[in-house]
Amino acid sequence: MIFKANLKILESTRAMLKFFPRTFLWFAALWLIHPPPVLQAECHDADLILRNGKIITMDATRSIVTALAVRNRQILAAGNDSEIAACSSPRTEIIDLHGQTVLPGLIDVHTHALNWAEGLLRNDIDPGYPKVHSIPEILKQVSERSASYPAGRWILGAGWDESKLSEHRYITRKDLDAVSPNNPVWLEHFTGHLGVANSLALKLGQVSRDTATPSGGVIDKDDSGEPTGILKDNAQGLVQSVLPPDPPDLALPATRVVSEKALEAGLTTIHDICLLAAGIRAYQDAHKNGWLKLRVQMAPLVSNLQDAEALAKGGIYSGFGDDGLKFGAVKMFADGGMGAKTIAVYEPAEGEPGNLGLLIWPPADMQRAHHILARAGWQLETHAIGDRAMDEVLDSYQAVIKDLDLKEPRFRIVHAGFATPPVQKRLRELHVLVDSNPAFVYWIGAYFSKYGPQRVRWAYPAKSYFDNGIIAAGTSDVPVTPISPWWGIWAAVERREFHTGQVLAPEERITVLQALEMYTRNPAYIGFEENQKGSLEPGKLADFIIVDRDVLSVPSAQLKDVEVLKTFVGGELAYAKPAAH
Ligand SMILES: [Zn+2]
Repeated sequence: MIFKANLKILESTRAMLKFFPRTFLWFAALWLIHPPPVLQAECHDADLILRNGKIITMDATRSIVTALAVRNRQILAAGNDSEIAACSSPRTEIIDLHGQTVLPGLIDVHTHALNWAEGLLRNDIDPGYPKVHSIPEILKQVSERSASYPAGRWILGAGWDESKLSEHRYITRKDLDAVSPNNPVWLEHFTGHLGVANSLALKLGQVSRDTATPSGGVIDKDDSGEPTGILKDNAQGLVQSVLPPDPPDLALPATRVVSEKALEAGLTTIHDICLLAAGIRAYQDAHKNGWLKLRVQMAPLVSNLQDAEALAKGGIYSGFGDDGLKFGAVKMFADGGMGAKTIAVYEPAEGEPGNLGLLIWPPADMQRAHHILARAGWQLETHAIGDRAMDEVLDSYQAVIKDLDLKEPRFRIVHAGFATPPVQKRLRELHVLVDSNPAFVYWIGAYFSKYGPQRVRWAYPAKSYFDNGIIAAGTSDVPVTPISPWWGIWAAVERREFHTGQVLAPEERITVLQALEMYTRNPAYIGFEENQKGSLEPGKLADFIIVDRDVLSVPSAQLKDVEVLKTFVGGELAYAKPAAH
C-alpha cells in the first residue's frame, strides 16, 4: 500500500516537473531541509516496537531515529519515541533498547557459505590460520590422521595460506609423502584456486609428468618436470574428480550451520555463489523445513557452454523464488586467484616473468555463454581480478547489453581486484556493479605488492567507487575471509594489511557510514532488492540487528570487534547472543 502511495507521489511530481520545473525545485529544496516525517498515517496495531535506541536507518538522508514499529514482517514506521508510541496497541511487544544501536540487517552478496560449512563438517584436518602457523604443524595433523586411518582412506583439509605460514611457501607433494605415504591427501588452498596433493592422490588422479594440462588450469612442475603436487584452477579437477563422494546427508545439516553463523555475524541475507545441484536442493529442503531463517540468493555456477545452455533451457531465471530463498545471478570465472598467481594481467607480477595468468574461458565462448544466459533472463556475475580479465568481461558485457538492448541488467564483476582508472571508467559507463572485498586488504593484502605499487594503489578500492558513482558491495567471499562482515567494514575504514599493519592505498579509505552502505543499501541494489532491503523504512522487510556498541562513534579500530546482540529477520528474533554466565 505504502509503495502504491509513493508511486502516485512520484507520478505527480513527474507531471509537476514537466509543467512547473521551478516550483518543483523549490519544493524539492524544502523537502531536503525538512524531510517529511517517516511516520505513516495508518500507523497502528504494531506487532513490535523498538524504542529508546539509536537506530541508524540508512535511508536516503541517513536519518537516525530512536524508535521503530513493525507489523506483518515489515517496517511500519520509524521516528521518535512519542511518534512511534502512537503505533502501539495492547498486544504490541515493546523492546526498550536502553540506548543500544540498531542497523539494517547486513547483506553479503558473495559467499561460498554452504561449501565452507560442508568443509567444517567434512574435513579431517584444519590447515588454516589461526589454527596453524607453519608447515610442520600441518604435517603433524596429517601424520596423526594417517596413523589412525586405514591405508587408502583420504585425508582432506581446506584453508591453508602460505602467506600465514612461517616458511612462506606452498606445501608440496614431498612434504605430504613424508608423513602420509599410504593415504591420499588433498588440501585445498583458502582461495579455492589451488590445492596440494600427495603422490598417492596424484596417482589416483592420473597426474604425472606427462599429463596434458587441462585448459584453464596449471599443473605445477619442478625443475626436473615432475609435478610438485600443486594443481591450480581447472587442473584441480584431476584430483577433485576422484575424491570420495560427500555423504548424501552432508549438505542439509550444512545449511543449518550457514544460517546460524551468518545470523550470529549480523547478516540477514547472503548470496551463496557457485552452487551445484546438491547445494540448491539442500537450501530448498532447509527452506521447506522452516529452519532457514537467513534469506539466501542462490547463484548457480556455469563452467562451460553446455552448462550455460542447460541452465537457459531449464526455464528458470534470476529472481525466481520468494523473500526467503530465490535464484540470484549466475556465476562464471574469467581468471584465477592472486595466491595461485593465475589472475589475468597485462604486466606480470614480480618474479613471474612471462606469467600473464589464465583466461579460464576463450573470449568468444565467454561472450556466447553470457549472451545465452542474459537472453534467458539471468543476471550475470563474473569473477575477474586482473586488468586483462576485467577487460575480457567488460568487452563481453558491453556486446551483450548492446545485442539484447538490455536497459538495466545490473551485471556484476566479482572482486575487480585491480580497478585502475581505465577499468573504473568502463564500469561507470556500462553501469556494471562490483562485488568487492574490503577484507582482502587486511587478510591477503600481502599478495598485492608482488604486482607493483601502481596496481597496489588500485587494489580493492572503495573511495574512488563512491567518487565515481560506481555501486560496490563489500563481501567476505567466505571461506577466503571470515564470514563476519565486521572485518570488511573495519578494513574498508582502516585498510591495514595483516603482516605489517601498513595502510594500503590510504586514499581509498572511506567513512563508517560509507562502509555500512557497502553492506546494506548497495548489496540490496545489486540483488534487485532495494525496495525491500538495505534500509529501515516503512514498507521494507523488518530485517535488523542490535549491536553492542555505537558503530558511528567508537574508535575505528573497534569496528572488527563489534558483536551482534540480536538479529531479527522479518520482525522475528532469529539470533540472540547467549547471556554471559
Ligand atoms: Zn568467490
